[in-house]
Amino acid sequence: MNPKPNIVNLPVYKPGKPIEEVKKELGLKDVIKLASNENPYGSSPNAKAAILAELENLYLYPDGSAAELTSALANHLGVRNDSIIFGCGSDEIIALLARAFFLPGDETIMADQTFSVYKSNADIEGAVSIEVPLAHGTHDLDAMLARVTERTKVIWICNPNNPTGTIVPEEALITFLNAVPAGVMVVLDEAYCEYVTDLSYPNGIKLLESYPNLVVLRTFSKIYGLAALRIGYGVASPQIISLINKVREPFNTSRLAQAGALAALADQEYVQECRRLNSAGILQLQAEFKRLDLAFFPAHGNFIMVDVRKPAAEIFDALLRRGIIVRAGHKLYPTYIRVTVGSAEQNKAFIAALEQVLQEQGVQV
Ligand SMILES: *Cc1c(COP(=O)(O)O)cnc(C)c1O
Repeated sequence: MNPKPNIVNLPVYKPGKPIEEVKKELGLKDVIKLASNENPYGSSPNAKAAILAELENLYLYPDGSAAELTSALANHLGVRNDSIIFGCGSDEIIALLARAFFLPGDETIMADQTFSVYKSNADIEGAVSIEVPLAHGTHDLDAMLARVTERTKVIWICNPNNPTGTIVPEEALITFLNAVPAGVMVVLDEAYCEYVTDLSYPNGIKLLESYPNLVVLRTFSKIYGLAALRIGYGVASPQIISLINKVREPFNTSRLAQAGALAALADQEYVQECRRLNSAGILQLQAEFKRLDLAFFPAHGNFIMVDVRKPAAEIFDALLRRGIIVRAGHKLYPTYIRVTVGSAEQNKAFIAALEQVLQEQGVQV
């Protein structure tokens, strides 16, 4: 059998280690997962109730167009219904964009340390990824612009950037969008936008009117606390949405996901509360990192990239043995770990474990 040659050497995505696996492997009773930027407070209780009620309808196919959820979201965002597409997580929207737009040999531009799903989907379609170095952990928009050629199809801007947590401010983004050729798509991945409190942070939805080549990605997996349901969305011009809709599977989001998302969207008070708690958590962790003399990138999402001054894999393993799962393995930042902002209690447990581990490893703290 002959697979597509470009997929043979693709790496399989390595997710954050699951809690169940760590408990079993290490014989631990209590494990704290701060590895996948999940919401430590879970979802709105209204979402759980809506999902329970929906269990009555498991024998029915979902509404493939997610009409009710689309209307509610369009209303919430102030956009037209036909500007929205839902996916099995916003991961799927990335895959649909790649499927609909890339031909082998097309070029696509992204940061050299960003969400890996952009490159993996480009690879699958045989598109060439141009990876542009971050500057101080932030997208270097001028350098990205300088790499645009006639072959460029899509530029990916992750804002805040995963894993560094930095943001591109509004002014810089607008200058960039004004300079990008109209035929090049810009995908603005705003998976963490609801967490951002910095006033310079742009609202991608507002920019859609001025830039018809813009696509904004958002998700119910992060602040809405519904990662298990697998539901995210893209917002763009009706023309782009109708193109991606052609390559979407007919029933790509489930009844449970649509019901949960609808209820979660309606509970904006819950979102506000999570945002408030997250901001407090960032301050808590940053104060501890300063005390431990560890450098970190400015954090705007619900995670922080911190320099542990030792090979990150060793710190990862040592934390794991203490029942704390974080994220390491960032090729360009070999001494950094990415840690999700947990509850105050989880953050405290993480810092206590980190301090012990660093002392054992001979780091002056
Ligand atoms: C988590 C994440 C997503 C998507 O998550 P889904 O669960 O697929 O919606 C997209 N982009 C970034 C940068 C993320 O961190």
